[in-house]
Amino acid sequence: MNIEKIVVGSLETNCYIVSIDNECLIVDPGDDFNKIKNAVKNYQVVGCLITHFHQDHIGALEEVLSTYNLEINKVKSKKFNFAIIETPGHTFDSRIFYFKEDNIMFTGDFIFKDGIGRTDLGGSDKDMLYSLHLIEKYPDNITLYPGHGPQTTLGEEKKRFSYYYN
Ligand SMILES: [Zn+2]
Repeated sequence: MNIEKIVVGSLETNCYIVSIDNECLIVDPGDDFNKIKNAVKNYQVVGCLITHFHQDHIGALEEVLSTYNLEINKVKSKKFNFAIIETPGHTFDSRIFYFKEDNIMFTGDFIFKDGIGRTDLGGSDKDMLYSLHLIEKYPDNITLYPGHGPQTTLGEEKKRFSYYYN
């Protein structure tokens, strides 16, 4: 599996192109459809994954769905094996995508390098604590690909979780 990051829109959202052979998924098409279109031009686009419905993550969603004839979070290929984990907190509908075989999570605005998502934009602190406790059970060496900023590992980020619990 190959992962390419494209930074889109004024809030510098990470859109990821996840590919296996000639097929790819688009994670969080936040904006700049032409940029995304160019990045996937050599692939068959078989899915579009959305971590949550804040505008900076879905700005190009409608164009992606109509251009590639897709439905949100449904993948038209058996090559991509991943779990959807509900992680409310940043928003009530936040979720992450866990590719266990590749040891990767796309975390949207749930967890960033050196921080977690705000809960005052349609989420809740109580839900965020639930989600942190949930994700804490997963292995430290998972690489996290957040919705903004650089990648990190779950182990690195767990070090700060106890701070949020107080
Ligand atoms: Zn957000």
